[in-house]
Amino acid sequence: MRKSKLLWVVLLVFITLLAVSCTSSSLIPASSTVNGTLQVHYIDVGQADSILLKASDGTAVLIDAGNNPDGPDVVNYLKSQQVKELAAVIATHPHEDHIGGLDTIIKNFPVKAVYMPNASSTTKTFEEFISAVKASGAKRIQAKAGVSLDVPGLTGRFLAPNGSGYEDLNNYSAVLRLTCGKITFLFTGDAEDISEKEMLSSGQDLKANVLKVGHHGSDTSTTSSFLKAVSPQYAIISVESGNDYGHPADSVLSSLSGAGIQVFRTDKNGTIVVTCDGESVTFAVGESLRNILPT
Ligand SMILES: [Zn+2]
Repeated sequence: MRKSKLLWVVLLVFITLLAVSCTSSSLIPASSTVNGTLQVHYIDVGQADSILLKASDGTAVLIDAGNNPDGPDVVNYLKSQQVKELAAVIATHPHEDHIGGLDTIIKNFPVKAVYMPNASSTTKTFEEFISAVKASGAKRIQAKAGVSLDVPGLTGRFLAPNGSGYEDLNNYSAVLRLTCGKITFLFTGDAEDISEKEMLSSGQDLKANVLKVGHHGSDTSTTSSFLKAVSPQYAIISVESGNDYGHPADSVLSSLSGAGIQVFRTDKNGTIVVTCDGESVTFAVGESLRNILPT
């Protein structure tokens, strides 16, 4: 009798331990959906955009590459981050301050896919970009609302463009919403009020914790209804100090501060690196970049 009672106790302890271990292992997938951390590098390229997405397994995606002369600098930056290949390049729209450096990037790194809107330009810059894409053999995918970013380890979906025939190329901007666990990022290119209105009426979820402010903080973007729908905690403005356009506009800065949004700017902070662990984000600028970036 005693022996069998002991056996029952042992069995009970074993079952309890098993239950506990099952409970904790069932919790693991919730935090590992991100597969480690994701870094978003808002590279300081002056009056232009260039953003590197880098997962902890090395998967890298580049959104824009600044103006033509920025190409070699962005190549060096990616090399300093141990980027060996790009799972995707996103050319938000055909303006030089976004695609200018992309031909140099495509010639220096293997690129699997290039996402771009169905928009073109007659500029030499655009022709050079298209020739580089063709020569690379990268898959060309049209970026438009509803298209998912097909990169293993990254979860993203394009929210714009929603239409065609825009007078201004800015409204063709590929707008990407990236999910990192519970955190969301919105990359807007130079999308202006027309595109923002279309995103709003499309009924898509626009909410994001971190917003890359549209069109370098110009007053043609960041309408109050759009900002309200996104309702970010943080905003990044990619802009050059003393630029000819007066970017960022005072009206945009005051709507951001009025909404209690913390603003980071490449003209004041230089390159900004946001690290997401799936639960929260941390910002690194200036001296603090030394702690997270390889030298
Ligand atoms: Zn621009």
